[in-house]
Amino acid sequence: IRASAAPRRPPGSASGAGMSVLVTGAAGFVGTHCSLALRKRGDGVVGVDNFNAYYDPSLKKARAALLATHGVFVVEGDINDGRLLAKLFDVVPFTHVLHLAAQAGVRYAMENPASYVHSNVAGLVTLLEACKDADPQPAVVWASSSSVYGLNDKVPFSERDRTDRPASLYAATKKAGEEITHTYNHIYGLSVTGLRFFTVYGPWGRPDMAYFSFTRNILQGKPITVYRGKDHVDLARDFTYIDDVVKGCLASLDTAGRSTGTGGKKRGPAPYRIFNLGNTSPVTVPNLVAILEKHLRVKAKKNVVEMPGNGDVPFTHANISLAREQLGYKPTTNLDAGLKKFVKWYLSYYGYTRGGSKNLRQ
Ligand code: NAD
Repeated sequence: IRASAAPRRPPGSASGAGMSVLVTGAAGFVGTHCSLALRKRGDGVVGVDNFNAYYDPSLKKARAALLATHGVFVVEGDINDGRLLAKLFDVVPFTHVLHLAAQAGVRYAMENPASYVHSNVAGLVTLLEACKDADPQPAVVWASSSSVYGLNDKVPFSERDRTDRPASLYAATKKAGEEITHTYNHIYGLSVTGLRFFTVYGPWGRPDMAYFSFTRNILQGKPITVYRGKDHVDLARDFTYIDDVVKGCLASLDTAGRSTGTGGKKRGPAPYRIFNLGNTSPVTVPNLVAILEKHLRVKAKKNVVEMPGNGDVPFTHANISLAREQLGYKPTTNLDAGLKKFVKWYLSYYGYTRGGSKNLRQ
């Protein structure tokens, strides 16, 4: 762990200054991409992930194997394990924590509500306890979600808009996370940056997300279920390509500022920030399907049904002025170009040849 966490770049150099970063949820979709990007520019990274079975654990193992080839070791463990976290902080004086571990997805809350409390509330508190007790205290950058805007009908969503109407338990736990991190910021001097991601997609993505499961079903000749809002209005999402989100995460780490506490005591005010990381260009779900059909060269069998009211919101749309101003965040990949890259990865990862004659993993 020591070797892979040691930054290769000398401290004090531009952009990031030789960080040592603990990435939670490192074997997840966003965690893998961020860990690779940090490593690529010479920062030290240690990952932690519990490899849970919310979706295909073999995909998480494959991501971790990829990370290992780039010098990132992913410790198998749960963020609720305070002793493990204390040990990690003991071995490595992390300058930053990029906290991405969470129970994601809105619909799974119907099946397993406790998993959201376990990872997104209790796990978050355990992690923040370890951060506030660490000496030096790291700066914390963590993934909130656009879902905190809930049933807000004023678009685009800006960071100052109301977030008091969550539409799902997932959204409620992310909102709770914003309050909890804010508390650790003002009581213990932890530097905190919360990032509200907007429907992130791309290679190595999450199989539970629509663009991924649509691709799987279309290739297997199975029907896809397309939800429609009330009064036949199409749902729309501000799909954001993974490389753009990674740039936003790294810029957040670079500009996080220092925590001011040590060993659980605050020594002065520390930064607390929240940013939208979206694409500012919402696309309807039928348009998403049309783009996938184009890149897959297969027509989808569509089942269009009314949204069942189980946690989804009708639309998302980010105002990214604040992130643009303070982070230099500027998304550059549109959905067409991003899905082209995703489809290329999907066909290769699952062993498809063009025409779908071979499929080794499914
Ligand atoms: P992901 O599920 O691929 O990654 C999360 C990882 O955390 C998984 O590998 C999982 O095994 C791990 N994990 C979960 N609970 C854990 C625990 N208690 N201890 C240790 N590890 C645990 O999800 P992702 O898409 O990479 O999302 C990353 C973060 O971004 C999450 O916090 C998610 O809520 C947030 N987010 C994602 C999106 C998106 O569109 N992908 C949108 C908004 C917010």
